[in-house]
Amino acid sequence: MGSLNLPRRVTVLGSTGSVGISTLDLFEKARAEVEVVALVAGRNAEKLAEQALRWRPQVAVLEDESALPRLRELLAGSGVETAAGAVAVAEAATREAQWVMSAIVGFAGLAPTLAAARTGAVIALANKESLICAGPELLRTAKRAGGAVIPVDSEHSAIFQVFEPENAAQVARLILTASGGPFRSWTREQMEAATPEQALAHPNWSMGAKISVDSATMMNKGLEVIEAAYLFAMPPERVDVLIHPQSIVHSLVEYADGSTLAQLGPPDMRTPIACAYAWPDRLPWPADRLDLARIGQLTFEAPDPVRFPALAIAKAALETGGSAPAIMNAADEIAVGAFLSRRIGFGDIPRVVARTLERMEAEGWGRRNESDVLETARAADATARRVAEEVAGGLKAPA
Ligand code: NDP
Repeated sequence: MGSLNLPRRVTVLGSTGSVGISTLDLFEKARAEVEVVALVAGRNAEKLAEQALRWRPQVAVLEDESALPRLRELLAGSGVETAAGAVAVAEAATREAQWVMSAIVGFAGLAPTLAAARTGAVIALANKESLICAGPELLRTAKRAGGAVIPVDSEHSAIFQVFEPENAAQVARLILTASGGPFRSWTREQMEAATPEQALAHPNWSMGAKISVDSATMMNKGLEVIEAAYLFAMPPERVDVLIHPQSIVHSLVEYADGSTLAQLGPPDMRTPIACAYAWPDRLPWPADRLDLARIGQLTFEAPDPVRFPALAIAKAALETGGSAPAIMNAADEIAVGAFLSRRIGFGDIPRVVARTLERMEAEGWGRRNESDVLETARAADATARRVAEEVAGGLKAPA
């Protein structure tokens, strides 16, 4: 690895989650010579302390202040600084790192990601909400500061790898692949009665709870359509979705001359993380190799807009622009939470999101575009959560 120009000082925001753990595991497997500046988590003091003892960051931070005494106890005498609270999270994100993994789940990831982008660090972006709620601003901020945003989501990483910026005007379509989730071949009636356990059983990827349910509704793909449009500056009509149950082709870019370029690989988040870490180099690590002869067949089908209304909801939010994507995202977080706690049914998730958007757009929210992006997103997010709770509360709990 000596000849590669790899970042040395790294920070992992959301280190105790699925993407955070994969990131640290990749460093381990690739024997990456990293100096960890900060590790940040929500409330899991035990896991964060275990990681801090292994990686010896300058600082280990929890968002939840009530978990700080336990973290302090676990790290006593280690020399690792500890802190807690939203301000400490944002401060940790701005410490001098060259590369920052943004893998906090939810809206809470936006402020630290924007803060890290202002330092000029390379942002490996897993946290979707940063793009959904403030995509254009985040990209401008990183560019202005001399940094870059490199997508980690496997689909956007795939597009990033085959997208030719010099030929952007000749891109006919971005084609995001989707596994179709656990309910790909279920009927609408079966889906209405789906339980949280069934929704969490993703066929190909092991992920956090929120994103697993989003894969089952395909709201995740809807969010990804918005992310792709922002990341690659594409209009909504040039971003398409294709179902590909094997999750081997991670996405494709179709060019005006009829060529379509794709990126393939086994479904393992460590590969897009490795790409975001080493870019523009390639990181050698003992990844599983793609054995197409053994896989034999790759299949594709068009998504069903009736069983998966989330895709159309997302495209409409993207077309509305302004705060609509942030509203959609917040309403979805509330709806997924209500579903996981069995207050609403699975089929109610897109209903809550659509009704929240309708209500708030009728009040003029979708078109709002004030100058302070973080505050605008916060206001839209908070209002959307309240409205979505009201909408969810008005629905019947599943039997
Ligand atoms: P997880 O739920 O597994 O992990 C979330 C992480 O965020 C944990 O470290 C958690 O800490 C931390 N966290 C939660 N709330 C806060 C907060 N308020 N402040 C600071 N840290 C917080 O999520 P995933 O790893 O699955 O996903 C992370 C992000 O990446 C999401 O936005 C997701 O959409 C995106 N993503 C995930 C993929 C995947 O394969 N998992 C693929 C592509 C994108 P604690 O453990 O203490 O709760």
